[in-house]
Amino acid sequence: MRRIGTIAFLIVAVLIALGARHGAWGEEAGAPKAAGATCDRAAFGLVLDVGHTAQVPGAKSARGALEFDFNLRLAKLIEQQLIEAGFAKTVLLVTEGPALAGLARRVARANAAHADLLLSIHHDSVPDSMLEKWDYNGEPHIFSDRFKGHSLFVSYENRDRKDSLRFARLLGLALKSRGLQYTPHYTDKIMGHRRRELIDAEAGVYRFDRLVVLKYPQMPAVLLEAGSIINRDEELLMGTPEHQAVIAAAVVEAAEGFCRERKPVKPDRIARPDAGAKAKLRPAAVRGPAGNAIKR
Ligand SMILES: [Zn+2]
Repeated sequence: MRRIGTIAFLIVAVLIALGARHGAWGEEAGAPKAAGATCDRAAFGLVLDVGHTAQVPGAKSARGALEFDFNLRLAKLIEQQLIEAGFAKTVLLVTEGPALAGLARRVARANAAHADLLLSIHHDSVPDSMLEKWDYNGEPHIFSDRFKGHSLFVSYENRDRKDSLRFARLLGLALKSRGLQYTPHYTDKIMGHRRRELIDAEAGVYRFDRLVVLKYPQMPAVLLEAGSIINRDEELLMGTPEHQAVIAAAVVEAAEGFCRERKPVKPDRIARPDAGAKAKLRPAAVRGPAGNAIKR
């Protein structure tokens, strides 16, 4: 396991270095935007990362569906709405393969896309200790109705912590304005080592420094747990196109706000090939916030 971790870490480090060599995804061009400037949607690069892979599909829902399928469906709808809204440079990032290698690949591809922002789409579960059993369609399944709601995560070790937080806040507020409530349970003692610091209590933003997909991208990065699919009611809700459209509309609004205020990256902050090189790729860091991604 340690050997695999070391190899994966080396792959991540090399790919990040390769990605970083390309420089600053175009932000060096052009003068700083004036206050009140409008968003140049066509020039704004947004990478939509579909959480997990078909081979290692993340959490299982209360009715046995795969998190990867929920992530892919929602991310595709968000992509469609962004493109319809004029964000023509939106890139849907679908990764294949085992978890660790998949993570290395997704970070490298996000960096190579020279995007302004990365949003990783996930659906939540709970730690194994909270799972209960039930039968659905005559088959045994697991569930937990204890928590529901979305949550947002950022890493303070991302090279652009401030803008990661800024987009997470914009998205949290856009979801809130549509009547959606974030889940507060990540601050709960019961979450043990998966407990997270709530850094924006109004918008529902938590801090998760070691998460690979947030830490290593060379751009602001945010992870959205769109809702809990281990919760029996919320699983059904997350499956409806109407609810997915509400989330997608919130993402479009947040992207617009973020793009409008986006400041060009300063040259001295561009291309740090050694970024994150001292960190270790630990198994905990490749799981989702609930720590359940790899096992199932
Ligand atoms: Zn996930």
